[in-house]
Amino acid sequence: MDRFKGARSPIAKASLVYINNKYVKHGELEIKELFCMKELTNKIEENQGFVEDQLSQMNEMLKGKCPGIDIGNQCDTPYPCDFKDHCWSDIPEYSIFNINRLKKSKKFELYYKGIIEFKDIPDDYALSSGQRVQIESELTDKVIINKEGISQFLETVFYPLYFLDFETFMPVIPICDGTRPYQMMPFQYSLHVLEDESAELKHYEFLAKESIDEREELVKRLTSEIPDKACVLTYNRVFEKRILKEMSEQFLSYSEKLMSIHGNIIDLMVPFQKRDYYTKEMKGSYSLKFVLPALLADISYEGMAISDGGDAMNAYATLHSLEDKEEVKKIRGDLFEYCKLDTYAMVKLLEELRKL
Ligand code: SF4
Repeated sequence: MDRFKGARSPIAKASLVYINNKYVKHGELEIKELFCMKELTNKIEENQGFVEDQLSQMNEMLKGKCPGIDIGNQCDTPYPCDFKDHCWSDIPEYSIFNINRLKKSKKFELYYKGIIEFKDIPDDYALSSGQRVQIESELTDKVIINKEGISQFLETVFYPLYFLDFETFMPVIPICDGTRPYQMMPFQYSLHVLEDESAELKHYEFLAKESIDEREELVKRLTSEIPDKACVLTYNRVFEKRILKEMSEQFLSYSEKLMSIHGNIIDLMVPFQKRDYYTKEMKGSYSLKFVLPALLADISYEGMAISDGGDAMNAYATLHSLEDKEEVKKIRGDLFEYCKLDTYAMVKLLEELRKL
């Protein structure tokens, strides 16, 4: 039966098959549960006329000249357009479009008034204090420091100090019992420790073996290394808190200890997020990757085989399929090195804030 016009092979039925993100694995993988299937034959049939109309309109458009449409909201909605390199070529790499947390509508409001660079923004244009700091620092090359804000943050930090960072991956096909597709699976952490002001810096780390579920071992080690009354510093606490909470729900015998760590977390990102410390090199961002080079030029992720969380996730996800033991050893070494730098960077950032 040929129900679809223009199809090169006869199609009797059309369905969309997609991952069921509610599926929880218990024992053997149940393929029928892992996928959802939605039959769309009638819907597709109904819409064939619409597609034909659209195609003929597009073909007409292609015969004409390039439409004179300026850049706008449409360039990123519903997703970034492939022609951005062409249409946005006159926009400088760093412009009003990089003002942090400024609504898209306000950016285009400025753009349509001919304002593209920071220097052209009127003094009375409504911006938040953080946005003003970003612009002022860029135009004057000044380092903005709010000592009172930094000092208030430092008062919340106490000893013993534990600097914590997790790495996670999100397998589409769940590999561990009790987990769903795309569930965040912690496989690594790095922990730097300062018992008191004059103590020597200690380091602990964990990296799960490939292809087995070592989350319980990770939780056991972590809860034995962090005492109940410790100050736990992370950079962007939302991520670490979410992992600790999920682990506490999964491994009930460690729940209390995990939630105690969860409750003791202080976010080192806060003074940078609040613009208590800002340099123009941060380019409006407060992520560690921008803050670090701005404050500590001698610590860098550049040149590292694994230099961000995405790299770490991909590297760990491929480990189980590698047969070359040397390659596995090398990647594991790269993972250790990367995660260790994340927490070491936090130690050094705190030192810098204290110097101020
Ligand atoms: S980038 Fe794409 S959406 Fe934006 S103006 Fe150019 S063609 Fe249109």
